[in-house]
Amino acid sequence: MDRRNRRTRVVLGIAISAGFLLGCSSEEATELPNIVLISVDTLRADHLGCYGYAHDTSPFLDSLATEGIVFENAFAQSSWTLASHMSLFTGRYPHNHGVETPELSLSASIPTLTEELKAAGYHTYGFVTWAFLDEKYGFGRGFDLYRQFIPPPDKRDVQHAEHVTRADVAVDSILEGFGQGLASPYFLFVHLFDPHLDYAPPIEDARRFDPTAAEDLTVGKHTTLQPYILAVQNEPQRIPTSMLKQVTALYDGEIRFTDRQLKRLFDGMESRGMMDDTLVVFTSDHGEELDDHGSMEGHGWTLYDEILHVPLIVKLPDSKAASHTNQRIAPLAESIDIAPTILQLAGLAIPESFDGKSLLPYLDPTSSPDETRSFSSSQRFLSRWSLRTDTHKLIHSRRKTARLPYVPPLYEFYDLEADPGETTNLFENQPPEARRLRAYLDAWMQTQRKNVDPVPLQLDQEQRARLRALGYADDSDSSER
Ligand SMILES: [Zn+2]
Repeated sequence: MDRRNRRTRVVLGIAISAGFLLGCSSEEATELPNIVLISVDTLRADHLGCYGYAHDTSPFLDSLATEGIVFENAFAQSSWTLASHMSLFTGRYPHNHGVETPELSLSASIPTLTEELKAAGYHTYGFVTWAFLDEKYGFGRGFDLYRQFIPPPDKRDVQHAEHVTRADVAVDSILEGFGQGLASPYFLFVHLFDPHLDYAPPIEDARRFDPTAAEDLTVGKHTTLQPYILAVQNEPQRIPTSMLKQVTALYDGEIRFTDRQLKRLFDGMESRGMMDDTLVVFTSDHGEELDDHGSMEGHGWTLYDEILHVPLIVKLPDSKAASHTNQRIAPLAESIDIAPTILQLAGLAIPESFDGKSLLPYLDPTSSPDETRSFSSSQRFLSRWSLRTDTHKLIHSRRKTARLPYVPPLYEFYDLEADPGETTNLFENQPPEARRLRAYLDAWMQTQRKNVDPVPLQLDQEQRARLRALGYADDSDSSER
C-alpha cells in the first residue's frame, strides 16, 4: 500500500475489506442492469443548471441530464436527512416507516430497496458521509458492504463541520476500493454531504460565483449564520443582502465542488468498465432555505418548495435508453417513487409495502396523467404536513411543545402559479381548492399503515447527551439536521 492509501485510511478511519475488492466476473453477468444511486445532501433543484439556475454550478450533472431524464417536479418526503432517506429506501411516507426522530430505527418487518435487490442477486455497496445514514437506523440492511465516512461520535454537529468527510476524500476511497471494477450486477449507493452547512468550498469554487465570497470563509459557518436562523428565535434578524450574496456563493461553490467530484467518480467507474448497461439515479434528500422565507433556516423547519423540491435525474441503461435521452417530465414525482422505479427497471416485483409508484409510465410522451400530488411531513422541531399539487400547496403545522417561541400558522395555502415563492397565504379566505386539498391531506394523514413500529435505539446516558448537543432534546435548538 502506498503512502496515499495509508493517509486515506487514517483520514477515514476505515479499512478496505478484501470482500470489496471484487473483480469483474463474466460468469456472474446477468440481464439485471447495474444500478448507481447518488444522493447529494441539501441540494436545491433550482441551484442546478439543468433546473434553470443562471450560474454554472453543475456542468457534470447538466451533461448527465442531457443523457437522461429530468423529473422537473420531484419532491422529497421530508425536510431532513434521516426521515427523507428512509423514505427513499423504504418507498414509504415518513409516517409509514416511522423513523421520524433520531432515536428510532426501522422496523425489521419493513423491507428496503437494498434488501429487494440483494434478494434478486445484486452485489450491494453503500457509502455514506453523515451520521443520519448510520446503519443503526436500518440503512445498512441488504448491503454487502456499507461504509460510513462519518465523524467520530463527539464531532457530529455543526460546530465540528470540519470533521465531515469531503466529497473528494470519499470519492478517492470509493475508487480505490473498486480495484479493477465490481462484479455485475451491482447496486451502488453513494451519499455526499458537502452542500450542507457549514458552507466551506475550496476558494476557487467560491470565487466563481462571487469574487468577495472567499474574503471571509467564516461567513458560511453555522455559528456565523445563527442570528439569521429561524430555529433559534421567533423573529430572526434578516441577513444583510451583501452577506446573503456571499453565503449563496459559498453554497453554490459547494455544489460546483461536488459536481466535479461526481465527474471524477463517474470517470473512474467508466474507466473500470462499470458503466456498461448501468442505470443512474441522482437525487437529494431536501433543499435549503437561503432567506427565501425570511430566514437562513437551513432545513428541517419548513415545507416550502426551496426545502422539498429536489433534483431527480434518471439515466437509463444503454439497452433501454433509446428515445429517453434529454427527456423532461413535468408531472410531480416523489422520492418514494424512486425505489419502485428502480425495481421495475430491473424487471423486479414492487413490494406491496411501498407507498410509492413506478415513474416509468410518465416516460411515455403520450401519457397525460391526471392531477399529480406530493405529500411531505416533518416531525422535527414542529409537526408539519404538506400536500402539493401541480398548481397549489397546503401546509398544516402544529407546535410540538409550548416552549417553542415560534408559532406557525395552523394552515397555509398557496397558489403556486400566481405565487411560486409561497409568500401569500390564502387559507383564511377558504377558497374551494384549499378545502379540497385539506380533505386530501386529512385523509392522507390518516393512512398510517399497521405494524410500522419503529424500534427505539438503545442509548446510554452519554449518547443521549450527545443527541442533546445535536439539538434533539430541546425543540428550540437548531443544530444538526
Ligand atoms: Zn440531509
